[in-house]
Amino acid sequence: MAVAAADVQGEKRQSLNVTPGPILLLGAPGVGKGTQAKELVAKWGIPQISTGDLLRYHRDHGTALGIQAKQLMDQGKLVSDDVVNQMVAARLKQPDTQVGYILDGYPRTLPQAAWLDQHIGADPKALPVIAVSIQVSYNQLLRRITGRRTCAACGTIYNIYLQPPRVDEKCDLDGTPLVRRSDDTEEVFRERMRTYESQTAPVVEHYRALGRFEEVNGEQPVDAVAAAVIAAVARLRS
Ligand code: AMP
Repeated sequence: MAVAAADVQGEKRQSLNVTPGPILLLGAPGVGKGTQAKELVAKWGIPQISTGDLLRYHRDHGTALGIQAKQLMDQGKLVSDDVVNQMVAARLKQPDTQVGYILDGYPRTLPQAAWLDQHIGADPKALPVIAVSIQVSYNQLLRRITGRRTCAACGTIYNIYLQPPRVDEKCDLDGTPLVRRSDDTEEVFRERMRTYESQTAPVVEHYRALGRFEEVNGEQPVDAVAAAVIAAVARLRS
């Protein structure tokens, strides 16, 4: 036990010597890209850029882009490449992306990947993209997605099957009713998985073929997945 903990700490310390550069977290909906991105944010202080979060912000604030995207998001379909690429281009202009950044949920199609490769390749100072793909089985994903609930007040995430709150549908920390994302239903999940298989699985193969790519088993405790992702990034950047 003590040795395992020391190994994890050692990996984390070692990883701090690495310049992270652009990191892609790939994987199906619900594999834990967002959770793992937050672990990397904590390690390196680089931003997490989640196109899903950016689109939800637009949708919830009723911007023109959000109104355009809402229906597609609610059906588990993808927003157009142009819209998403432009949103990412604007975000990558922010100065906090200079040392590196984590892209979470992007690129999701081959045209998005081609756009990103070209965008990064056009900057002579930019490090090449590295990609880590998180693997989780279909049935586990179904339970993760359809069981996911979030506290509307403090943002704590629960899962009614895997990590239930003490009182049904109430936050342990402040008692606020838990909410379910409108696209976390089984029907939408199946559509998102179909979309993933047809549009995003080829993106994983694209980065695998480029070679700066590693796969991580996502069916382990969050800390173990985080250690594996950090170790993969350190190897890919060494
Ligand atoms: P996520 O939180 O990453 O699962 O994204 C939620 C929804 O936002 C997806 O189901 C899509 O409708 C949309 N979305 C997020 N990222 C992208 C992307 N890179 N390309 C197209 N649509 C996206």
